[in-house]
Amino acid sequence: MALIVQKFGGTSVANLDRMHAVAERALRTQREGHEVVVIVSAMAGETNRLLGLAHQVSPVPDMRELDSLASTGEQVSAALVALCVHRLGGEARSLLGHQVQIRTDGAFTKARIRTIDGSKLLETVRRGRVAVVAGFQGVDDEGNITTLGRGGSDTTAVAIAAAIKADVCEIYTDVDGVYTTDPNICPRARKIDRISYEEMLELASLGAKVLQIRSVELAMKYGVPVHVRTSFSDRPGTLVVGEEGLEAVVVSGVAYDKSEAKVQLINVPDRPGVVASIFGTLSKQNVSVDMIIQSPSREGGATTDVTFTVAKTDLARCKELIEQCARQIGGAGIEYDPDIVKVSIVGLGMRSHAGVASRMFEILAGEGINIQAISTSEIKVSCLVHSRYTELAVRALHEGFGLDRAAGAPGEDAAATA
Ligand code: ASP
Ligand code: MG
Repeated sequence: MALIVQKFGGTSVANLDRMHAVAERALRTQREGHEVVVIVSAMAGETNRLLGLAHQVSPVPDMRELDSLASTGEQVSAALVALCVHRLGGEARSLLGHQVQIRTDGAFTKARIRTIDGSKLLETVRRGRVAVVAGFQGVDDEGNITTLGRGGSDTTAVAIAAAIKADVCEIYTDVDGVYTTDPNICPRARKIDRISYEEMLELASLGAKVLQIRSVELAMKYGVPVHVRTSFSDRPGTLVVGEEGLEAVVVSGVAYDKSEAKVQLINVPDRPGVVASIFGTLSKQNVSVDMIIQSPSREGGATTDVTFTVAKTDLARCKELIEQCARQIGGAGIEYDPDIVKVSIVGLGMRSHAGVASRMFEILAGEGINIQAISTSEIKVSCLVHSRYTELAVRALHEGFGLDRAAGAPGEDAAATA
């Protein structure tokens, strides 16, 4: 007998038929002899609809009320799924964040979980009931309702799995797993059977939006095995686990991210403290910077160029700050370029293999793609290129590192993903 957490995303509870299917799956799992805790998201589109209403009332709504409002989406799903279980002859109890005692800090709209009291959940499942928990929500020390940030039900699920020491946390979604790259732009992408937390983190933060990043961090911290799979079939998906026992593939995936813009400061005075003041100003205003390159100082040269990337959503704020900065430092010209994409290769095996980065540069050069900036970590190499090359770069790297699925390989169905 296993203790299983099953989390269903918005498309998996999009209507009553889908909720019925969720209830059936939970009961089937129970009949196989397991104890089941279900976590639900709001019905697809519901969180956006609720937040939209708030923004119609006020351009900058009070965050406490936003959380009160947004959390109702999950409450609706939890109660309806519990009713579906009853309808099928099973026993179920819906539970909200405060009932499970999902305690968070008080940071409305992006609260972090501090503690979870698993006893209520364990008591519920030990009585043969399905516990149906509203995802995304918690309660702070003052008893206010909080939410965990967009996509936060993933984090609820993993945190609960860790708290009750579940054997596995199944994440049911509308894709059937994690792919070697985005099947929408690379039809030869393959589903990955097993991947490490570290690689998943790099892929998630690079734009493979299958799991909320924080949920992967939590899973890694507590060693919770996560199974990402589709609610539309019984096919196994992708198991996200610790790296022990995993074959360290040199490159396991190719990710891309179009969400950043490039900023170039030209002829910045080449003296100590200048770069510190530029990035100090940005960080004080919470503009996070990703890649940074500074051209080498020339002996006796008076100026240098500094290039970096920021989120496109921060670009307007960044412009204001940087122009102010440039006036103070003197002499700097500024250029902005939103037409860029960051293409990355990720793989555990890079740690022990030389020449992976140079192979990546070769592949891009072979397609006539110019590289504008490069950054590396232990298990990742990223290149910034013009956004018109997104598809070409991803496909070339996917093929070049041997990730393409063999033509007509049985059992693979990349087209089945959204
Ligand atoms: N309903 C919330 C959202 O859309 C949380 C979730 O679905 O994970 O962000
Ligand atoms: Mg999600």
